[in-house]
Amino acid sequence: APSGPPPHVALLSSPGMGHVAPLAELARRLHDAHGFTATVLTYASSDSAAQRAFLASLPPAVGAASLPAVPLGDLPAGAAIETLLSVEAQRSVPALTAVLSGLKSTTNLVAFVADLFGADTLRAARDAGVPGYLFFPSNLLMLSLMLHLPRLDANVAGEFRDLPEPVRLPGCVPVPGADILQPLQDRASDAYRWMVHQGERYRDAAGILVNTFDAVEPGAAAVLRQPEPWRPPVYPIGPLTRQPTDDGGSGAVDATSCIDWLDAQPDRSVLFVSFGSGGALSTAQTGELARGLELSGHRFLWVVRSPTDGGANPGESYYDRSSSKDDPLSFLPPGFVERTKELGRVVPSWAPQTRVLAHRATKAMLTHCGWNSALESMAAGVPMIAWPLYAEQRENAVMLCEETKVALRPKVRDANDMILADDIAEVVKEMMGGEKGEAACVKVMELQEAARSGLEPGGMSGDTLAQVVSKWTAVTC
Ligand code: UDP
Repeated sequence: APSGPPPHVALLSSPGMGHVAPLAELARRLHDAHGFTATVLTYASSDSAAQRAFLASLPPAVGAASLPAVPLGDLPAGAAIETLLSVEAQRSVPALTAVLSGLKSTTNLVAFVADLFGADTLRAARDAGVPGYLFFPSNLLMLSLMLHLPRLDANVAGEFRDLPEPVRLPGCVPVPGADILQPLQDRASDAYRWMVHQGERYRDAAGILVNTFDAVEPGAAAVLRQPEPWRPPVYPIGPLTRQPTDDGGSGAVDATSCIDWLDAQPDRSVLFVSFGSGGALSTAQTGELARGLELSGHRFLWVVRSPTDGGANPGESYYDRSSSKDDPLSFLPPGFVERTKELGRVVPSWAPQTRVLAHRATKAMLTHCGWNSALESMAAGVPMIAWPLYAEQRENAVMLCEETKVALRPKVRDANDMILADDIAEVVKEMMGGEKGEAACVKVMELQEAARSGLEPGGMSGDTLAQVVSKWTAVTC
């Protein structure tokens, strides 16, 4: 048996449950599979009851601490989320350096891991004399974009959406310019500049761990698993997803009512509809979706949010999903809930997603293509209807539909990017009973198996994490 204190890792999460949860899963895995202890660090701005409850539910060997608040009041009122997260990271470097130095003296600290907006915090690791790594909670397509961004920034003229040809990254599915990461769509914006800055700083990492697995994007994995002198080594170690018993970090929901309803439905008959922790539709689009689900005649479990109208950012409820005080169900077409009560169930704001996906009655998921949701869906063997909203979700949708082939995408015929009821009904029918739906089901079952076996000892993702661990622990010997 090894002597001395167990190896310890400090992990700093960008704000948002979609960032905290996968990083905490990494900590849990390092504990379970490799005997680590860990500290999950969060920013003061992301403190919420749901997050505290989630962090408290981790094993005792995984502790949590919050960095002290840094002033952000000088940023413009409408500053983009990418700007806020990047600036908060930069300003937290001195406090983080002190925290890491402290952990170094009290634990066997072998590594520091920051996530996608935290590249500037690698400086704190350097100052504290700890190897600094990144954990990327999205996929290799998106990581490849970030790593090539400084070059694209220098070589691409005009806006991405005006490019005549799709963007081709080595080994990756070609992505039409309009589907490239949302904050890159306005090159004059602060958000764009910050993303390029992050991409430049990614090169400072000693390695980049990625929450994906080779079977999802084999071309990109083959390219990025090869070492290159111009970038850090890349380690696909996923899918690390929430435990199926986890209610999603929200103590406020009545999780059992969703599960009780699913218990009463036939096997593989229900479409689960959810837009992640922050996604919401306009009132008009909510109405089209309601009519489309009704027209399809299929069973559905729909997590309904209050609409974001008046040009609001569809991710505005990102920090606080309970920010809206309106009853989301009041925005549905009159009589909808009553008319569909035999086949459908609407739940306001939040559902225990991993439990729903694991349920025998769930057949498919209509998703905003947030990467955690996509991984959870694949790990559960559930095919998807792709309905991307913001961040890198359109890139994810392209990949899941065209490369991985586990998702179908509705037609978008409306000039304002609205998806119409008839097209929603059509894609739902195809997914739930058509040939393309069946093909996606077959493919996603293969991926489910690849995900499961990849994390076992001897599996690709499991071995890749073991390789990282042996680097970390060798450094301190
Ligand atoms: N989630 C959930 N219930 C909901 C909505 C979301 O449990 O009603 C969880 C979901 O399982 C996933 C996370 O919240 O783990 C959402 O992360 P994702 O990356 O898919 O999207 P984001 O919320 O970051 O846009």
